[in-house]
Amino acid sequence: MKTIRQVAVLGAGTMGSRIAAHFANAGIPALLLDVTLAAAQKGIENALKLRPAGFFTNDGAKLVTPGSFDNDLSKIATADWILEAVTENLDIKRTLWDKVLKLAKPGAILSTNTSGIPLAKISEGWPLDARQRFLGTHFFNPPRYLHLLEIIPGVDTSRDVFDFVAAFGDRKLGKGIVPCKDTPNFIANRIGSFWGGTVAKITHEGGYTVEEVDYITGPLIGLPGTASFRLLDLVGLDIWGFVGENLYHAVPDDPWRDRFLADPAHKELMSRGWLGDKSGQGYYKKVGPAKEIHAINLKTFEYAPIQKVRFPSGEEAKQIEDIPARLRKLVAGTDRVGAFLWSLYSDLFIYCAERIPEISDRCVEIDRAMKWGYAHKYGPFELWDALGFEDVCKRLEAEGRTLPANILAMRQSGATSFYRNKQYFDLLTNAYKDLEERPGIVDLADFAIHTKNPGASLKDLGDGVGCVEFHSKLNSLGEDNFAMMQAGLDALEAGKLEALVIANQGQDFCVGANLAMVLLAAQDEEWDELALSIHRFQQLNMRLKYASRPVVGAPFGRTLGGGCEIQMHCPGVQAAAETYLGLVEVGVGVIPGGGGTKELLARLKDPRRCFETIGMAKVSASAPDAQSLGLLARDAGISMNTERLVADAKDLALSMISGYTPAQPKPIKVGGAPVKAMMKVGLWSMQQGGYISDYDVVVGKKLAHILSGGDLSGETEVSEQYLLDLEREAFLSLCGNQKTQERMAHMLKTGKPLRN
Ligand code: NAD
Repeated sequence: MKTIRQVAVLGAGTMGSRIAAHFANAGIPALLLDVTLAAAQKGIENALKLRPAGFFTNDGAKLVTPGSFDNDLSKIATADWILEAVTENLDIKRTLWDKVLKLAKPGAILSTNTSGIPLAKISEGWPLDARQRFLGTHFFNPPRYLHLLEIIPGVDTSRDVFDFVAAFGDRKLGKGIVPCKDTPNFIANRIGSFWGGTVAKITHEGGYTVEEVDYITGPLIGLPGTASFRLLDLVGLDIWGFVGENLYHAVPDDPWRDRFLADPAHKELMSRGWLGDKSGQGYYKKVGPAKEIHAINLKTFEYAPIQKVRFPSGEEAKQIEDIPARLRKLVAGTDRVGAFLWSLYSDLFIYCAERIPEISDRCVEIDRAMKWGYAHKYGPFELWDALGFEDVCKRLEAEGRTLPANILAMRQSGATSFYRNKQYFDLLTNAYKDLEERPGIVDLADFAIHTKNPGASLKDLGDGVGCVEFHSKLNSLGEDNFAMMQAGLDALEAGKLEALVIANQGQDFCVGANLAMVLLAAQDEEWDELALSIHRFQQLNMRLKYASRPVVGAPFGRTLGGGCEIQMHCPGVQAAAETYLGLVEVGVGVIPGGGGTKELLARLKDPRRCFETIGMAKVSASAPDAQSLGLLARDAGISMNTERLVADAKDLALSMISGYTPAQPKPIKVGGAPVKAMMKVGLWSMQQGGYISDYDVVVGKKLAHILSGGDLSGETEVSEQYLLDLEREAFLSLCGNQKTQERMAHMLKTGKPLRN
């Protein structure tokens, strides 16, 4: 069995440096070469410095060795995989590969990150053995974060090499693999370019403003907040224009190819050198010391403060949580939003259907490419299903438009959607086919429900493993979630389950307590109820920790406050590599009161570090970073591919069952008055330095009180319950303070902490 012990990445630009960083994230040493050593070093620096960061932790950079082509190319001889990411230019790539082929070891995988050059042209004239090991590995920028990895086999690429790279990309690099044909710009950028070009065309023809377009094409329709023009500013108008222009020439037979050319406004901006973020202005620019955001007027090319857009149809549709239902409503509208979206979607649907089998044999790959590479919530064919396959066909016909032949045939076959339970419609054979299993990738929606309430469910993962799944709003914690944790623990203790997993597949694992509920209780001075609720949460966490059978937490994404406390108490943890853990309670004027303060102290045995981590509301940048902060257990399993997290967590739970003995409660050492005094001095100097507010000091003192062990005069050992009682007291007393309530209200309103 092949393994990758070392990779050589050629080219340390935007992509090469971050691809090398991501190999380092996977624990694989990388040689990173560029024209000069300085360029390679600069690449590493950028991957460290630029946000979002390329490395999981700064230490990761130690795994990347910089070098120059002139002095260090011979070092590629030990690499198991040579990945080329130099400038998008055939001659440059071929010249470099000529040298590489002479030095690469037999059997090494050879791949290019080209986004548009046909692979066949790069490998023309190579020996067969090299062509068999050569393929395209097309990462998306930023490679650490965008899930998609398009893999393009050449005509001669061996199946073994393709399968190995696909499996490695999935498990070790955590990517979602989409096999592609060697067609210009492969799948995601072909469709993405069409999407962008179509947005530009509709904008121009309909006289929409920049703000209107970003309103219509952002989160409202299940796209990222960068929407259309923010994204262009981020990518760079020149890069986007260059990609489009290349694509235009590469697909002479594509009847829609005009869409790939920059529209008049785009051209005008480029000619003025307004290329987006890198040149300080593009469709948007930040103005003045306050960095007020201005948007460009596409007719006059003058900037003005952004206008808040509020289409009545959009505002109404935002109330509909279910995106397909929301889209149906929007697209049915006869206003400017409806008109925009119907123009966009109808062209997109026809274009995508017509690209089968040219760029892909199946709708599945096109949908995955757009979801994973462009962070769209739904792929084109899923969108078509969402709007109603037949409804869309009828509307197109009523408008006198020609349906693609494969869609006509599909309709004649009686099919009414591209997807139906675990099947997709195969446009090549005109029949439904089973979607292949993706072993290790499960959908929680497929498992039987033991019991359920609006905020959480207890599910059966099979093999005696139960799963507490949160599905409350933002997965915030309230009574529903507590009830289901209790149900899971009761079933575990009653022997109805062998092990329990706490996992979900929402946007984030859990953003913390349901603040609205806490604030309401505080405002109504319902102190007994609030105390009871905190006590209940603390005791549930203690039950997780000491359950007689294993419990595994599976955090991913934002795992904050109470969510962080839950996983801290689980005897087993399987975390996604992209987990952002934090005890961030001070931001809303309280302290971690569900056992988090106690658990961090027990774990780190260092009150000063705990004080810093909680006091500064530190949030980890990744799972390994969380381990160094102490927020994630050192022995936690880490899943590079978040899609695998639930199955990995279940596997961990199963592996713990045999011979499981719960941990024994241990006393915790606290420092008493001297430690408290030290922390107070710290607070005082931060306050004097103007780093923290007076109220930060109030909250900080409560934290110091718990971490030092309350009113003890010196070093003592205390029980966990003793510290939990201190946490609860502090939490409640802070809730009674007006300033804490203001912090909570502000967070609920703006999503940002208030420094009052
Ligand atoms: P880049 O311009 O940031 O980096 C290219 C690197 O190649 C530079 O560091 C440069 O020093 C080096 N280089 C220049 N001339 C060279 C030569 N004659 N010989 C050897 N090296 C030379 O480009 P990038 O954005 O990192 O793109 C690299 C590859 O990845 C391209 O093929 C591009 O199409 C592809 N790609 C880019 C993106 C993206 O979003 N930027 C995404 C996917 C794929």
